[in-house]
Amino acid sequence: MPDDLPPFSSNESDAEERQLCVRCLAPNQPSAHFCLDCGCPLSSYAATAPFESLFAEGHLYRQAVECPYRPIILIGMWLIFGCAGLAGLRFIANGEDAASLFGGGVVLLFSGIILTKTTRRFLQLRHHHG
Ligand SMILES: [Zn+2]
Repeated sequence: MPDDLPPFSSNESDAEERQLCVRCLAPNQPSAHFCLDCGCPLSSYAATAPFESLFAEGHLYRQAVECPYRPIILIGMWLIFGCAGLAGLRFIANGEDAASLFGGGVVLLFSGIILTKTTRRFLQLRHHHG
């Protein structure tokens, strides 16, 4: 690969050829919605599509999920995703059309997975470090 590319693209046509990840500067395919290297969202599609935006949110918390070595992180995750899960539940309870039922379900599922992962990881880390 050529390494004479500027670190930041100056216009849209440059971005078409190869987009550099805003986080780790890894070159990605123009069609890529997420960085292959670090999973950072790259396209406006990634930031706006409902499910992918959940994924983008998850990217922010991924580090916390993978390494929740302090209780405050676990508490924070429960506050954030507990609220998200409750909102999802409320969506399902009040939802009159399929879209809100589906949206609520996705949010609830996503929150549940994140919290399960974080909690399990936290307990593992606590166990290992005595
Ligand atoms: Zn990246």
